[in-house]
Amino acid sequence: FLPMASLNPEEQGHWQSIVWTLPEDYAEEYAALSDAEFTQLLTRESQHMLGGVLEATPRATFPLKARAAQQYIQDGLALIGDAAHVIHPLAGQGVNIGCLDAAVLCDVLLHDQARGVWAHEQTLKRYEHCRKGQNDAMMHSMSAIGWMETTLYFPMVWARNFGLKQVENQPMLKDAFMAQANGLGLLKDTRYAA
Ligand SMILES: Cc1cc2nc3c(=O)[nH]c(=O)nc-3n(C[C@H](O)[C@H](O)[C@H](O)COP(=O)(O)OP(=O)(O)OC[C@H]3O[C@@H](n4cnc5c(N)ncnc54)[C@H](O)[C@@H]3O)c2cc1C
Repeated sequence: FLPMASLNPEEQGHWQSIVWTLPEDYAEEYAALSDAEFTQLLTRESQHMLGGVLEATPRATFPLKARAAQQYIQDGLALIGDAAHVIHPLAGQGVNIGCLDAAVLCDVLLHDQARGVWAHEQTLKRYEHCRKGQNDAMMHSMSAIGWMETTLYFPMVWARNFGLKQVENQPMLKDAFMAQANGLGLLKDTRYAA
């Protein structure tokens, strides 16, 4: 749920942008429901987190696909953000990792400039080396978590619930996950740390 501004001041906080990720057959079925059926279902499935959902604007559905460029760089060219990687949006990490790409690329380019060169092959390779592994790992983790969220295979459901409980109960573990999720842990190695 992402809270949205409203043009009507009295409605502030009432509008949310909602992303609902579902297995394909469910997505098609839910998209075809009437507005009344859909808002009722959303109220129930979101466990009344927003109270009663009263109204929904037209719904859009599209398939989610994890994709990654095999190579981020070519001579004089570097891919950043979704041009380089598209990940499952369940943890809202897309913008974070795109911004980290930008931060690291600026960092290596400015380092280059200080030495009187620009976008040297080795520089771009350093950027790719620094970001590709981390982005691929994030992409695969998000896909795995997405799969675990929807699987009904009992051992996996048990492992997921057990794992989440452990993280919730151990502040240090939780902090480590949060540092990874908000991207600040990775930013500290760049000139934008402050
Ligand atoms: C359903 C969903 C929910 C998401 N939720 C979150 C979230 O909560 N938090 C989060 O961090 N991330 C989220 N993301 C991911 C996030 O939206 C993307 O990671 C982010 O927008 C990528 O930014 P970008 O600038 O790299 O690419 P984009 O946002 O795709 O921007 C690329 C731009 O280039 C334009 N363009 C394309 N081709 C051309 C061309 N030939 N000429 C000129 N312009 C062109 C496009 O129109 C677009 O405006 C979500 C993604 C989806 C699909």
